[in-house]
Amino acid sequence: MTGTIDIGPSRLRFEPSDGSPAMELPLAKLKLTAGGASDRLFFFSHPDAPDWSIYSTDTAILANGDLRADAGMAADIAAIQKGRAFAWARLAIAAAVVAALIGGLFALKDPLVAAIARRLPPELEQRVGDVAYAQVIATQRLLDDREIVAPLDSVAQRLAATSGDDRYDYRLAVADDEAINAFALPGGRLVLTSGLVLKASSPDEIAGVMAHEIAHVERQHSVRQLISSLGLYTILQTFFGDATGIGAVLIDGGAHLMTMTFSREFEREADEVGLRSLVAAEIDPSGMLSFFRILRDEERRAGGSIPGSLALLSTHPTTDERIATLEKKTGKMQKGAVRPLDLDLNALKAAVRRAQQRKG
Ligand SMILES: [Zn+2]
Repeated sequence: MTGTIDIGPSRLRFEPSDGSPAMELPLAKLKLTAGGASDRLFFFSHPDAPDWSIYSTDTAILANGDLRADAGMAADIAAIQKGRAFAWARLAIAAAVVAALIGGLFALKDPLVAAIARRLPPELEQRVGDVAYAQVIATQRLLDDREIVAPLDSVAQRLAATSGDDRYDYRLAVADDEAINAFALPGGRLVLTSGLVLKASSPDEIAGVMAHEIAHVERQHSVRQLISSLGLYTILQTFFGDATGIGAVLIDGGAHLMTMTFSREFEREADEVGLRSLVAAEIDPSGMLSFFRILRDEERRAGGSIPGSLALLSTHPTTDERIATLEKKTGKMQKGAVRPLDLDLNALKAAVRRAQQRKG
């Protein structure tokens, strides 16, 4: 039965809307409780009318002055409000727990991606790299004479030998391109431009660039970036379940590698890991620094930063920032043993020029 509740100083009156007689209950001994879903219903009951239960959904009841003036009612209202506050607190805690879980998952994302990448067979990474390399071959003229590739290969072997990571076979190539650039593909293909070789002023600088690129390969930056882009759900599914499904997706992703930019974190890591591997390979680490100085001068000549993709010339961190960091890092390094590189830079430059003329 529906009706209207009217509350006076000493009684509650219920007026049924169907015209049947009104019901009056004295406030003394009246009991108010909350119930229903989420305590959204307020029930009045009275021991003198045990068959009656009058309820309302109007929260304004809790603020009614006549009810609050009655000691018994005031105590009931206080108990209900306490319960409601507790329910809100529980809800807030539940929301905070859910937020923490989601936040935790995002914080976990990078380690999960790295763990998935570690489980990938090197052959798969190589296939991803091959897809990108096919694009390089289609758009760039490669100078692959033995006299060009062999000395660079020997530097790559020396750097790779120090890391203890033998998953990759480094294969070098020089692209006939006057822009100063270098990039690495998953699985171990490294490409330097002829512009980079011709602008270098010492073998240590070439080794510095190669150390940076090899670090990208060993730390699996390209595949990690590809896996990251798949979304949290796929990442969780791959991490906890079957990882074979991801292979085809990654190979398809190889087509996007050449337009991908590494994150600032990955570039920093490649600089840092590269620097350490130079020292471990007994190569003067300052070559990396002096090469970035050449790069900066070129950028200034070009009037700002030169756009680059997977390349050395990534737009972040800025070359100035990298130089500052490298200066700090190399400054702190103990001057270690240095063995000369098996790379005659003048002979290499001459070989590159010969190949350019022959092919041009
Ligand atoms: Zn890089």
